[in-house]
Amino acid sequence: MSDEPITVPEARHELFELAASVRALADWYEMTGVTGVPTSPPRSVVARAPMGAPPQFSAPPPQFDEPARPAPAPVLQDAPVRAPTNSFEQQPSAARPPIPSFELQRPPAARPTIARHEALTPTERMGRLSVLADEVKGCQRCRLAEARTQTVFSRGNPFAELCFVGEGPGAEEDRLGEPFVGPAGQLLDKMIVAMGYRREEVYVCNIVKCRPPENRKPAPDEMEACKAHLVAQLELCRPKYIVALGTVASKGLLNTSEGIMKLRGKWKLYRGIPVMPTFHPAYLLRQPAAKKEVWMDLQEVMARLGKKPPGKT
Ligand code: URA
Repeated sequence: MSDEPITVPEARHELFELAASVRALADWYEMTGVTGVPTSPPRSVVARAPMGAPPQFSAPPPQFDEPARPAPAPVLQDAPVRAPTNSFEQQPSAARPPIPSFELQRPPAARPTIARHEALTPTERMGRLSVLADEVKGCQRCRLAEARTQTVFSRGNPFAELCFVGEGPGAEEDRLGEPFVGPAGQLLDKMIVAMGYRREEVYVCNIVKCRPPENRKPAPDEMEACKAHLVAQLELCRPKYIVALGTVASKGLLNTSEGIMKLRGKWKLYRGIPVMPTFHPAYLLRQPAAKKEVWMDLQEVMARLGKKPPGKT
């Protein structure tokens, strides 16, 4: 920490940020109906809570809280392996045999493609991300380039441990050039704060970087055209965990045809990074009752990251 005295405008700014975070948290709790927030509740305990009743979190917190022992690798299922489509795609090799489709224990070291950037310094990674963002600005790989106002690359901390991946920019995002700044984004911000992060502490990006007209879903060929951007982006950011928001994000990352109803709440792998698929905040705006499930999914992520909701010790 710096010894510089904090100025009055800085102090006021921090106070405003704090107040906004507290307000967002209170809103989220009110909306989810969460009254007693547990510390890292195990899913099994949450799942057994009777409908409508506040869950009882009596079981001990998961082993992630034990600093002396490395956390066991989660039981994960990797996305199906496909033939590479471009230079960013994973190259099958003798060192990386095809991954069977059954559930497997994956040790944390199994991050082959990500390892390519591990030698880079943070400054180099930032530099490459900025070059990538510039490339994306000029991208003409699909028809979404025709109607966009501007590309929407990311927001937040590129070196965050946690990354949220959404579908694609909407009208507000297209106008402002930042992901999740519209109504769904405001709800996402509440989710982030409820997890114990500040908005700018996590990284947020989308499957496609340009707005699909009329807020339609991105088409499969548009997702494919944008895929190399996302692969390069996530390799440079190297988050520890990803939350996939909704069907498009889950399908785009996990290369699966399954919808979010089946996928949500189950850990998957994206190129060695554990992914938690959950409902998109825009869906929650239409179906507020689904916030309970999302909160359970987010708590799974929090447990792995050793995060507690603000105010809970
Ligand atoms: N929905 C998304 O999926 N992404 C955004 O950036 C905004 C809304």
